[in-house]
Amino acid sequence: MQSATFNGSRKKSIVSVGGIEIGGDTLTIMAGPCAVESNEQTLRIAAAVFESGAQFFRGGAYKPRTSPYAFQGLEEEGLIILAEVRERFGLKIVTEAIDEKSLELVEQYADVIQIGTRNMENGALLRRAGRSCLPVLLKRGMSASVEEWLQAAECITSQGNPNVILCERGIRTFTQHSRNTLDLAVVPALQKSEIDFPVIVDPSHGTGKRFMVHPMARAGVAVGADGIIVDIHDRPEQALCDGEQALDFAEYNLMLKEVRAIHQVLNPVLAAA
Ligand code: PEP
Ligand code: MN
Repeated sequence: MQSATFNGSRKKSIVSVGGIEIGGDTLTIMAGPCAVESNEQTLRIAAAVFESGAQFFRGGAYKPRTSPYAFQGLEEEGLIILAEVRERFGLKIVTEAIDEKSLELVEQYADVIQIGTRNMENGALLRRAGRSCLPVLLKRGMSASVEEWLQAAECITSQGNPNVILCERGIRTFTQHSRNTLDLAVVPALQKSEIDFPVIVDPSHGTGKRFMVHPMARAGVAVGADGIIVDIHDRPEQALCDGEQALDFAEYNLMLKEVRAIHQVLNPVLAAA
């Protein structure tokens, strides 16, 4: 079977996270709450992530919120809870660093350093992440062009850390029906660019609306993303952060079933490309 989308120029750069490959022929799933809220909440959600067969647990201990009155995260206490998730379930931890000080702590507890949309242009933070031994999940700045995003990635790689994973999380446009506009066309655009990094799609921040997350996750996989990062919560309506975009466990498991089926259909094509 031939595909115009995944043509012969498709490159496959792979980032290995403790032996788990991102960017190969497997579909990477990163799931968890927007924020680490408490030990109990985090472990309940981690159990669901583990049971789903996902390999990565996401959750923010540092939350760079737009409003100063919003929950800002449990900070190091949250990282300690994430370390417990890693220990108990063997899940790899993806969590955000917001400055050089938090990055130093994240390095001690996590497996992947997330750099969020608000920090994509923070040169000092990018360069510090470039001196880390851990892979970096670099979210797209909310108004960044592909070129600017790739330059931010190069700020990391230029310091010696080649392990960058890009994450499309939506950009600011004029639309009002969703929190951001998930720019899925950026996935083939990135795959065609000279510099090749694995690409993960975030349909949660990309839409901000629960009912849009599942269809956009399907679309992200269909367009060729290497994985999905998704907000889930056992009680989305009580979440301290971004509850309106969090899937409950039933919705999450249905989404997984469907994205895995889509990936399986595409995988022989991707593998042959
Ligand atoms: C997040 O993933 O929790 C987050 C804050 O994402 P973004 O930086 O894309 O807003
Ligand atoms: Mn969030």
